[in-house]
Amino acid sequence: MDEITDGLYVGSSMAETDKDKLTDSMAETDKDKLTECKITHILTVASHYPPSYPSAFTYKTISIDDLPNENIIQYFPECNQFISDALSAGGRVLVHCMAGQSRSAAVVAAYLMQKDRLTAEQALHLVKERRPQIHPNDGFREQLELYCDLNYDVTVDKPLYRLFLIGHSAEHFKEYGSVQPVAAGADPGMQQQGLPTQRLVRCKKCRRALVTETNILDHQAGVGQVAFSYNKRSANGVDTPHAFPQNRACSSLFVEPMEWMEGVKEGLVENKIVCPKCLAKLGAYSWAGAQCSCGKWITPSFQIHRNRVDEVRQR
Ligand SMILES: [Zn+2]
Ligand SMILES: [Zn+2]
Repeated sequence: MDEITDGLYVGSSMAETDKDKLTDSMAETDKDKLTECKITHILTVASHYPPSYPSAFTYKTISIDDLPNENIIQYFPECNQFISDALSAGGRVLVHCMAGQSRSAAVVAAYLMQKDRLTAEQALHLVKERRPQIHPNDGFREQLELYCDLNYDVTVDKPLYRLFLIGHSAEHFKEYGSVQPVAAGADPGMQQQGLPTQRLVRCKKCRRALVTETNILDHQAGVGQVAFSYNKRSANGVDTPHAFPQNRACSSLFVEPMEWMEGVKEGLVENKIVCPKCLAKLGAYSWAGAQCSCGKWITPSFQIHRNRVDEVRQR
């Protein structure tokens, strides 16, 4: 195990394992080593890994596999809290996974990022200086970058995080054929205060507000496929100014799943999209995707026909 910053260590499973289970070559990183480094807290970032010394250390376990499509970013806030609580109480923390290369390194990088407002690259560089073998998988690296773009605030209020979750759910659907619960966009028709200054899409028939610009997912007209995933281009949420003009050629708007859409919360694979007020038919959605009039395949597709709505600029 290696000390990354004062009192914060990254290690493999061997760093935490009971000495009796170890071969001679591994024995240097047993409980004596933990005691020698005055470790008080252990953060395990691995699945099926029960604590070896539950009475000797304060443990926290995050059950996650080292796979690029695992959502590790959702755990950053609680991991950061555990680490900072331990350190500020004068404790010393070991963060470990199996190899001490991907999961634990990602978690410690996220902690450094939030603490010192670092980019993913800066934080990984710091970890690597002390532990050269670290190598978070590509999905975790992307999520560290997303973490920076989210300003270290992982909440479903952020359009960018919802975009990541939609991509995540689409991957899950492709692989398992079932729909995960999804964080739907807030209903602009239910907002008490005036809507923010941005473009708004209303039902043509009853003028009810349906989506705002932040809910619209841009795509370039043409052939090919679009799978929605986290994308730096749309960082900071409202930064999709091209959504309207670029999609003039397309007969539909593609939006994120919205709270008011029937079947979204229930996990239906596909359904009609109707106006929540007048029940006018607006479009349809499908987690398997659909083709836009411009030829592009969009996955998943939450499609509102433009001739059923008015696009207005809110003052
Ligand atoms: Zn299109
Ligand atoms: Zn309506």
